[in-house]
Amino acid sequence: MDELVALCKRRGFIFQSNEIYGGLQGLYDYGPLGVELKNNLKQAWWREVVFDRDDVEGLDASILTKPSVLKFSGHEDTFSDPMVDCKSCNQRFRADQVPDHCKTEDLTEPRQFNLMFKTAVGPVEDKDSFAYLRPETAQNIFTNFKNVVDSTSRKVPFGIAQIGKAFRNEITPRNFIFRVREFEQMELEFFVAPGTDDDWHKKWVDARLKWWDEQGVSKDNIELYNVPSNELAHYSKATVDIMYKFPHGLEELEGIANRTDFDLGSHSKNQKDFDIYSNVSDNNESNAKLALQDIETKKWFIPYVIEPSAGVDRGVLAILNEAYKVEELEDGKTRIVLKLKPHLSPIKAAVIPLKKNNKKLVEIASNIKKTLQGLRLGRVLLENSGNIGKSYRRHDEVGTPLCITVDFETLDDDSVTIRDRDTMQQKRIAVSELSKYLEDLIIN
Ligand code: ATP
Repeated sequence: MDELVALCKRRGFIFQSNEIYGGLQGLYDYGPLGVELKNNLKQAWWREVVFDRDDVEGLDASILTKPSVLKFSGHEDTFSDPMVDCKSCNQRFRADQVPDHCKTEDLTEPRQFNLMFKTAVGPVEDKDSFAYLRPETAQNIFTNFKNVVDSTSRKVPFGIAQIGKAFRNEITPRNFIFRVREFEQMELEFFVAPGTDDDWHKKWVDARLKWWDEQGVSKDNIELYNVPSNELAHYSKATVDIMYKFPHGLEELEGIANRTDFDLGSHSKNQKDFDIYSNVSDNNESNAKLALQDIETKKWFIPYVIEPSAGVDRGVLAILNEAYKVEELEDGKTRIVLKLKPHLSPIKAAVIPLKKNNKKLVEIASNIKKTLQGLRLGRVLLENSGNIGKSYRRHDEVGTPLCITVDFETLDDDSVTIRDRDTMQQKRIAVSELSKYLEDLIIN
């Protein structure tokens, strides 16, 4: 973990937030390369979950959330962790995460601590003006259920996907970007007919495992955890957690829950009109019926929900951990290389003129950069540093799959040297073949 954290800072992936003022715990900022990696990961998810399917719509809803939403979702009552204070070191911990140096007899009895952040909306700060910063993106998918159905005429099975920020006032944020107070989630709420939920749950677990594998998260480092019934959240009939061997231990990367009809049932008006399976509180505040009509029987029913919910930041950490390699070279030296899947690499190709500021070489390199950038595959960088060895090392460390060197031979025969990140092999190809080469590398 220490090596990863150091690389992230050195190369501009991830910085501690508010660092020049001493930092703010549990918050991180994504730097020039981190933002590209993170965007690429989110794009890969969106492509798979929304574009490649024909049964999912997207959404981007607000972060500030009315308290009623989080009352009926159960968050006001249950979204808390047990907290203990250590009377010896005066620190506060989650009851299940007390460090070894605190003695049991020094700990207070556990108290429940709600993890939601509150803020005031509008100029007056009183009990009626407060709102929450959403603790998950899921809830405003449910509150928009009717809007999406009315505007798209969707019938079950169909889903609504959202990527966005979530906020949790974690008692003990730790392990770099693994447990933070502000993070991003990639969540899908997939609505199905009651009775088909178990099958869909299985399908989504398989689909999500396949996707993580395609992002370079090796199956060998993943375990599935079937959450036992006494540990299930109040809304869940069954949950499978995708656990990953993070540098600090085996922990949750994504959870896939069968939330039954809890959410739509609990945010619905006229609940008595439906056979709601879940135990929901009476709702006299909602003005919407979050139900669908069965085409054949004409009966209204509340769909069940399967929810694959993944953390973007935990995804970035897992992917960096998988990609990070220290390799022994033939000359006895070592190199650090990030073997990222090319579609996730922050920089897709670096174009390097052999001699810094040589007008002709830089002009050709700059034209190549423009052409390759025009393919819209991601960032292509013109690297006018003049030191080929250093450039290769830097691009190995940030996972750039392809380096393209423009040298004096290029002036004669319109060819360039390309260097493969993983094999370090170099070969010459014609400038006219570069676009196809890069496309094949990034898309396949
Ligand atoms: P944990 O038990 O680790 O606190 P959780 O079960 O509370 O996680 P969920 O509510 O299921 O997490 O949230 C879905 C996903 O959001 C998680 O699988 C994780 O990837 C991500 N996530 C949750 N909390 C955090 C956090 N504090 N920091 C970063 N990612 C988080």
